[in-house]
Amino acid sequence: MVEKFYVTYNQVHKLCQEAAPRILSDFKPNLMIAIGGGGYVPARILRSFLKQPGAPNIPIQAIGLSLYETLSGSDPVEAPGTKVTRTQWLDLSSLEMGNLIGKNVLIVDEVDDTRTTLEYAVKELEKDVETARKQQGRTETTKFSIFVLHNKDKQKKGHLPTDMVEEQRYIAARTVTDVWICYPWEATDIDEHDRLAQEKGI
Ligand code: 5GP
Repeated sequence: MVEKFYVTYNQVHKLCQEAAPRILSDFKPNLMIAIGGGGYVPARILRSFLKQPGAPNIPIQAIGLSLYETLSGSDPVEAPGTKVTRTQWLDLSSLEMGNLIGKNVLIVDEVDDTRTTLEYAVKELEKDVETARKQQGRTETTKFSIFVLHNKDKQKKGHLPTDMVEEQRYIAARTVTDVWICYPWEATDIDEHDRLAQEKGI
């Protein structure tokens, strides 16, 4: 069985606080996209640390993605693997997508495991913003960057765009081994969760 490690709200808060100066200096985000549900709390905490005096709060938009395993042998052409579906997305026809054009957009999630989710999110957002840009006849470029609390040091199934990797537009507050991380927002008994975090913290 995969070993479980526990992270407290306090630790999540401090991981966001610690990463914020680098995010501000390297990415200068104008907008965050939180991948639900794990990205919501980190994005909200980060917003407080990214706030600049005299500047408005950085808006947060939410997207939802769901992962499912494709069965072995279910499709003779396609190898078994993991697929992603959108459960919540930005409204392509409205201002929402147009709002991303020319912006520095920070994608926030809690954990980068196989990287399937992040690959999908970046690819699809880049594609949809490009479509909106062409439709609106605009020329500005949109830059996506990524923040996660934890990156698991393992063979990844998903890949990030070369320019994003080369320009180091990816920050993980912590790199960990391939363990299972229990986040506080998943806990039904937060006192017990915090107690376990003292014993098996990461
Ligand atoms: P991916 O494999 O696409 O990088 O991660 C998919 C999703 O699986 C993550 O967004 C997260 O919701 C979930 N996940 C992966 N590893 C962990 C983990 O260690 N703990 C928790 N709580 N969720 C995880």
